[in-house]
Amino acid sequence: MSYTIVADVCEGIGDCIPVCPVECIHWADGKTNTKSTAYTWIDDSTCIDCGACLSACPIEGAILDEWKPELQKP
Ligand code: SF4
Ligand code: SF4
Repeated sequence: MSYTIVADVCEGIGDCIPVCPVECIHWADGKTNTKSTAYTWIDDSTCIDCGACLSACPIEGAILDEWKPELQKP
């Protein structure tokens, strides 16, 4: 399984990136979401469901503790 970053809820703060123990959170390079901010996405092939990103993210609803690939925009 994997966590999910909801691309259009994320505000590109980036607090999730340094806390991920397997470095599977990436910037969507050069792209912006419907809020016109940068955003990140999770590589589901590497995510180990540790929950550190969800704990670190200040934006309600930006990270889900389940895999919903249709909500990401890698
Ligand atoms: S998921 Fe949360 S912590 Fe990570 S970049 Fe988006 S808003 Fe920031
Ligand atoms: S749940 Fe853990 S392993 Fe998966 S993206 Fe978040 S911090 Fe990384």
